[in-house]
Amino acid sequence: MSEVKMINLKIDGTPVTVPEGTTILDAARQASIDIPTLCYLKEINEIGACRMCVVEIKGSPKLNAACVYPVAEGMEVITNSKRVFEARRINLELLLSNHRRECLSCVRSGNCELQKLCRDYGVEDERRFDGAMTPSTIDDSATHMIRDNSKCILCRRCTAVCDQNQAAAVIGVNNRGFNTHIGCAFDAPLNTVACVSCGQCIVACPTGALFERDDTDRVWEALRDPEKRVVVQTAPSIRATLGESFGMSIGTNVEGKMVAALRRLGFDDVFDTDFSADLTIVEEANELVERIKTGGKLPLITSCSPGWINYCEHYFPDFIENLSTCKSPQQMFGAVTKSWYAEKLGIDPKNIFMVSIMPCTAKKYECKRPEQAANGIPDIDVALTTRELARMIERAGIDFTALPDEKFDDPLGVSTGAAVIFGATGGVMEAALRTAAEWITGDTAAPVEFTDVRGTEDIKEATYKVGDLTLNVAVTSGLKNAEKLLESVISGEKNYHFIEVMACPGGCVNGGGQPIQPAKVRNNVDLKKLRAKALYSQDSSMPLRKSHDNPVIKEVYDKYLEKPGSHRAHELLHTSYVAKDKFTGE
Ligand code: SF4
Ligand code: SF4
Ligand code: SF4
Repeated sequence: MSEVKMINLKIDGTPVTVPEGTTILDAARQASIDIPTLCYLKEINEIGACRMCVVEIKGSPKLNAACVYPVAEGMEVITNSKRVFEARRINLELLLSNHRRECLSCVRSGNCELQKLCRDYGVEDERRFDGAMTPSTIDDSATHMIRDNSKCILCRRCTAVCDQNQAAAVIGVNNRGFNTHIGCAFDAPLNTVACVSCGQCIVACPTGALFERDDTDRVWEALRDPEKRVVVQTAPSIRATLGESFGMSIGTNVEGKMVAALRRLGFDDVFDTDFSADLTIVEEANELVERIKTGGKLPLITSCSPGWINYCEHYFPDFIENLSTCKSPQQMFGAVTKSWYAEKLGIDPKNIFMVSIMPCTAKKYECKRPEQAANGIPDIDVALTTRELARMIERAGIDFTALPDEKFDDPLGVSTGAAVIFGATGGVMEAALRTAAEWITGDTAAPVEFTDVRGTEDIKEATYKVGDLTLNVAVTSGLKNAEKLLESVISGEKNYHFIEVMACPGGCVNGGGQPIQPAKVRNNVDLKKLRAKALYSQDSSMPLRKSHDNPVIKEVYDKYLEKPGSHRAHELLHTSYVAKDKFTGE
């Protein structure tokens, strides 16, 4: 193996030694110097377009973009000269001259990379370059998100993510020159193309140009309605991310404070989607065992991630039969609440208002699907993102970090460790294996941990011997990786019994509805790993770690559903999918 050549250079007078091929931007970080960026997203969007990262290189007459300029032996770089500062400031002023400035009420105020740079560089709202502005439109056609191009800085981070991470490529650069703007081909509305609703473009956007559709007013209204019993469920990953919205470290588990905040907001029942994640596993493990026993369609592919379901329906409809018919935990929760729990309380399910707090913008789309209304009424009334919940907590004046730790309500707040790990890529697979292994072997001491399917690699594979069976499994997240995996199945190169797919890279912990971390953090910290660690740590500390051991799940089957895969379970907990057009979205 050839040795990597090391390069010596100076950055702001500090000697630095880095491998050949390193950019000035990365080399500067090693000298603890943070060069500002706007368009740069590591390994996704390295185009040197915004010119915020310009630096001086001794001997070079022009300023150069540090994000794409490789280091050279003996190079001397200056990142903080007057000329550099002036150039960056002018860039910011030019961006603002074509920007609808409404920082007072903008959804990203306080968390906007453009706003922060303007503050850092003392850019005042004096409109030195004001003049005509690019005509811009607001696209609010989609259920899950809104595009406001009057706040777009054309950094192209969204288009890069949509194409390279999510293999959808439904947005791009339209027109040229002064009329350049981002949108779908021929400026079609987003709801008429094959957008999968994942929201990954939103978390990549540095400004308030992209944001989820805000449904919080509907929840406030329900909370103030004395006729409604307002029930809330929180997805497994929310406890590992919500704290970031209140300045807490990435990967802090705030389950207890989250429950306390929801109670103070006025929800009548504060429940845990972990309950229905356990239920999903029981139904899905049963489906897997049945398909193996009866020669059913394999590989079985998980169906918890609505962004993945959208992708499968649009881009790989031939795999629809492989999808598990199980509804996602969000939807199962609503179906059980509006049937078993409503009966238990003796109230009309129509008077239950079911809110879910989700990591994902695609959940807003999922809960509006006509197939997701088990009792003739929607399983879920409103799906909010983690960010929307954080805004509700702020508006209510709740001091989140000072809250005590409280526990979920009974009975639908009871769960196992298998459910908690649903929030990370590989978690659903591991949870299903815990149950399937015990059911197939009849051995209650069957393994609990399946560590081969953990971690944030693009595609993970493992083979497990379960009784007489040899199970080949695969796990992937991010739709570009899913595309790669499915192609390998189609070509016959790979042969699996069970596949887990999550639309967002790293799974729900990195969902499109999660708190937005700036590029500076995204480029240098493994968000997915830190957030997932909080979930695995909770799993290992729980007394029950297999979904079928959840005592409330047992009660629901004993008294209501009869058994996994029963007729009633199918009516309430299973669904169907529809092949859709890849180009028109219909
Ligand atoms: S996008 Fe940023 S700079 Fe623009 S209005 Fe919103 S907060 Fe202010
Ligand atoms: S929501 Fe996902 S698929 Fe739709 S435009 Fe954004 S990144 Fe692309
Ligand atoms: S919408 Fe956001 S991410 Fe996309 S180009 Fe505009 S500013 Fe950049």
